[in-house]
Amino acid sequence: MVAKVKFAEYIIMMTSKEAAHSFYNQSLEELSHTLHESGFKQKSADEIFRLVYKRFNPNFEAVDTLSRKTIDFISTHYRFDLPKIVKVQNADDNTVKFLVELADGNQVESVLIPFAKKYTICLSSQVGCAMKCSFCFTGLQGLKRNLEASEIIGQYIVAYKWLRENRPEKIASPNIVFMGQGEPLHNFDQVKKAVEIFLTTEGLHLGFRQITLSTAGYLPGLERFSELPNINLALSLHSPIDEDRNKLIPLNKRYSLEKLFEKLDQIKLLKRQFITYEYLLIKDLNDRDEDITLLNKWLGQRRAIINIIPFNEFPGAPYKRPLTSKVNEFKTKLERLGLTVKVRTTKGSDILAACGQLNTLQSKTL
Ligand code: SAH
Repeated sequence: MVAKVKFAEYIIMMTSKEAAHSFYNQSLEELSHTLHESGFKQKSADEIFRLVYKRFNPNFEAVDTLSRKTIDFISTHYRFDLPKIVKVQNADDNTVKFLVELADGNQVESVLIPFAKKYTICLSSQVGCAMKCSFCFTGLQGLKRNLEASEIIGQYIVAYKWLRENRPEKIASPNIVFMGQGEPLHNFDQVKKAVEIFLTTEGLHLGFRQITLSTAGYLPGLERFSELPNINLALSLHSPIDEDRNKLIPLNKRYSLEKLFEKLDQIKLLKRQFITYEYLLIKDLNDRDEDITLLNKWLGQRRAIINIIPFNEFPGAPYKRPLTSKVNEFKTKLERLGLTVKVRTTKGSDILAACGQLNTLQSKTL
């Protein structure tokens, strides 16, 4: 039977179903399985996925392959509501920061960062963060809760929709970095589910090279890293000396550099794949010659790219950003030792959208 339901009516039907689960928490396999178990055509899952993830505004009226019963079933089982963008801030360099409200009223931030051809979106994986890194604005908030896969995917969809409407000249699907609020490996299962959904051919169809996960070095999560598709890994190193790293990333007291590298060495890399080592450069703290020598000791023989991030200051920050000349000197010295080094250009700092500047409490007052 031909489906005849207007999308607006459909949404009302669905949001009134209290027990419904978010559709965006379902992988394609899970959806096919559920349909099959309930006596529906398994193949309809492909159709439904394409509508929801490729059009973002699925109009079931237009689909004549979905039976009325299938639509009714989907409508009683799933909710399709997305997080709400409650604030948009545009930076001078075209970076856009979104304050996004979740169904329970909690808020997180996501940031669209422009690169030559397309945008990268920086997604949050938790409300706040438990890691309490001394240089990070988000850490000041503490951890409130983990995000669900649907809320991670929801950030992507609402930002992508915004992009299509507001910057139509650059609408290719954004790359993803898990570098917003939260420690993604501390919320492993939901991040894993979200990654799988992002990669689904019938859905958003991103390539695994389009996704990068950044971690402070949470070992229980790193141990499971190979359960994920082959996405890029970035490790927040920030110091090659345990004593100093302990002060920057308290997690290091539990998982020392030795233990961390032991785990990293077990991760199988594809041909030409590297681990990116993020190195927050802080004035007079980790920018000494001794740091360069020890960085070479740890990374010289490993498949590593060093990504220097000059410290981004935030209100009340305990550290200072080094001069650009110092950043360049640090880079050159590492390169002379044969290391591959990049410097991350700071984007969106005039709206506190740069690395480590995300803090929802602050966003509300800016
Ligand atoms: N929890 C993850 C991802 C979030 S932070 C992690 O620790 O990797 C993403 C990157 O921004 C990390 O490398 C982080 O160390 C860096 N960062 C945090 N605060 C910063 C700041 N104030 N200035 C520059 N980079 C910062």
